[in-house]
Amino acid sequence: MASFRFHVALVAAKLSKTVIRLLGRNGTHTPGVIAQKLCPDFLAQAPKAPLAICVTGTNGKTTVSNLLTDCLEKSGKSVVSNRTGSNIVPGCMTNVINSLNWTGKCRVDATVFEVDERASRLILPYVNPDYLVVTGLFRDSLKRNAHPDYIFSVIDTYCPDSAKVILNADELCSSMLKKNSQRVFYGIGAQPDDKTEPYNLIADYQLCPECGTKLKYNYLRYHHIGDVVCPNCGLHSADKKYLATEINRENMTLTMREGDTETVYPLIHTALFNIYNEVTVISALREIGYQQEQVQELIAQIHVPDSRHNETTVNGVTVIQALSKGQSAVSSSRTFEYVANEEGRKAVILAMDDLSDRKKSIEYSGWIYDLEFEQFNRDDVVQVICSGPRCYDHKVRCLIAGIPEEKIQVNTSEVAAADMVTLDGVDRVYILYDCENYGMSCEMKQKIIKRLEEGK
Ligand SMILES: [Zn+2]
Repeated sequence: MASFRFHVALVAAKLSKTVIRLLGRNGTHTPGVIAQKLCPDFLAQAPKAPLAICVTGTNGKTTVSNLLTDCLEKSGKSVVSNRTGSNIVPGCMTNVINSLNWTGKCRVDATVFEVDERASRLILPYVNPDYLVVTGLFRDSLKRNAHPDYIFSVIDTYCPDSAKVILNADELCSSMLKKNSQRVFYGIGAQPDDKTEPYNLIADYQLCPECGTKLKYNYLRYHHIGDVVCPNCGLHSADKKYLATEINRENMTLTMREGDTETVYPLIHTALFNIYNEVTVISALREIGYQQEQVQELIAQIHVPDSRHNETTVNGVTVIQALSKGQSAVSSSRTFEYVANEEGRKAVILAMDDLSDRKKSIEYSGWIYDLEFEQFNRDDVVQVICSGPRCYDHKVRCLIAGIPEEKIQVNTSEVAAADMVTLDGVDRVYILYDCENYGMSCEMKQKIIKRLEEGK
């Protein structure tokens, strides 16, 4: 039974949301702050939805939780989700507030929480999810997340044992989470262009976590992602209940094997990191209880959120906004590789300095040297424009990567940098932006589109 204090906090939070809405803003954060102030154990007291799913991990959690929410909604469920990525405690509390009516009763069929992996200790024990979906753990911002092993210990300690855990077998660190809980694994099986030796600048987990012997990769995709075995103690990647066997980018299909059954799903995006996101969503839907045919239908109706990737073509030139997380060298290097391998002549604008961070602190800049700028050292990348307060650091890194200086331009203003793109003889213009810079990247895109429409 919820306390009087809980009900006061709920009403105050809902009122604040109404006021914020009237002011024309979203209110994804403040209602949660108010509820927490008035009732510190609000999350623990709040009634749960019949289905509660939490999604966490270093990369991909926003995309996965958005796609999962889309699928649940399209299947007819009423769902509340912190879609916009407000994924620390106030954002998750606002999510709970939205799932309740004014009297404190749950009014939805399901809640999907994107949970910041570092904040999971303050969220998972109280939300008490039925399912925890983990995309993987990688090296991330040193200042915010320290080391992946630290994040592992936070999730492992604070996720309730009762949650069924859905894990990426191709990512060794997170696949060892919650050994005493119910666990299922997904992954992508051997593909023609896989490697067997680490080749990226960052390759964590090269040694066996049990005995310290060098691990052998049956296949290695990027960084430490792949299928692994220890030649000394026998530790190996978990068996995958949900295994992607064939990726067909021409026909845009994805074949998944479960036991003896193979099912062909629509492929929603060609970038490997988004294929992992799709495999994660399919696995979660199957675990929740949807039949393969239903999942096929649902997957056919969804697409990667615009805030993560979108394209517009004007007069033969395609302008693409693609998320490239600042301070996350693993995630951004995979975006770099995807961009570099796209067809045509490409111009790239980097707008990856964290807008919110720059107001209050100085981020460790070593991450720029972990980024694979080498991906852009190729003939069909004709221009690299480094923008933002750290544009000169990015330029130095481009030069170290061997990119000819005449291809590199700098501008401390991201929006002004949009005017520096040479549009003649270019097929694709990429704006690579940090999560916090999405609004600004839209402004940059509009400027480029206007120039294309005017034929400049
Ligand atoms: Zn070993």
